[in-house]
Amino acid sequence: MKLYFFQAGILKSQKQFFTAGRGLGEAFDVPVPFFLMEHPEGYVLFDTGNAREVIDRKEEHWGDVVAAYDPVMTEEEWVVSAIAKVGVHPEDVKYVILSHLHLDHAGGVGHFPKARYIVQREELHFAYVPDFYMKGAYIRKDFDKPVDWFILEGWQDDGFDVFGDGKIKVLFTPGHTPGHQSVLVNLQNEGSFLLTGDSCYTQENLNEDVLPGLVADPRATVKTMQRIRMLKDRNVAVVTGHDPVAWQTFRKAPEYYS
Ligand SMILES: [Zn+2]
Repeated sequence: MKLYFFQAGILKSQKQFFTAGRGLGEAFDVPVPFFLMEHPEGYVLFDTGNAREVIDRKEEHWGDVVAAYDPVMTEEEWVVSAIAKVGVHPEDVKYVILSHLHLDHAGGVGHFPKARYIVQREELHFAYVPDFYMKGAYIRKDFDKPVDWFILEGWQDDGFDVFGDGKIKVLFTPGHTPGHQSVLVNLQNEGSFLLTGDSCYTQENLNEDVLPGLVADPRATVKTMQRIRMLKDRNVAVVTGHDPVAWQTFRKAPEYYS
């Protein structure tokens, strides 16, 4: 199996939105990661980055949220163009696992005609009727599409094994949003990787007891971060969601981990 790291451009933002109470007003540009796994039974995406519309119509597509998170993405960085560079066509994708449905993760929903979209029921629900403080982060036109949803049910399905061989497991990691999930990838040669999505934005969140700047549930966030620390202690490589420093240290497509 191969694991590819991709980046759908950056968000030009401020540090306090990622580390609560730290870096007030400090400019902070973060990567927008997404991942592709080549499994013997098919390709799997974890997250999809921003919608194509942000390339040239971001204010129209994202609205006021651009003031806090300003996306900069090129055509080549858009998910469909990006995976084409490693020879993968949209119809080759068998599963799209969505950490959550925020605008910088769910922008590619609907572009993979044969895929099943693995999402938490709680996330899909919350995305349609978010609480007021998160309304700007969900763009309904990105995910309100007639796709084949594959619904998971929180703790009941925790550790869902996508192909039944232990290689790709979906962990329920609520906190950032009510239905957030992460992916544990077990590679033959290079060990295990936890792709946290936004359950943990940066290594600073993880290592210095700093809450992310945007959370639906602080207590659930802390429990999720404790779980991530336990995995890290067991030599799982933890890939946090928007860390501009840690992101530099990983191999990017067309290179891969195997
Ligand atoms: Zn998010």
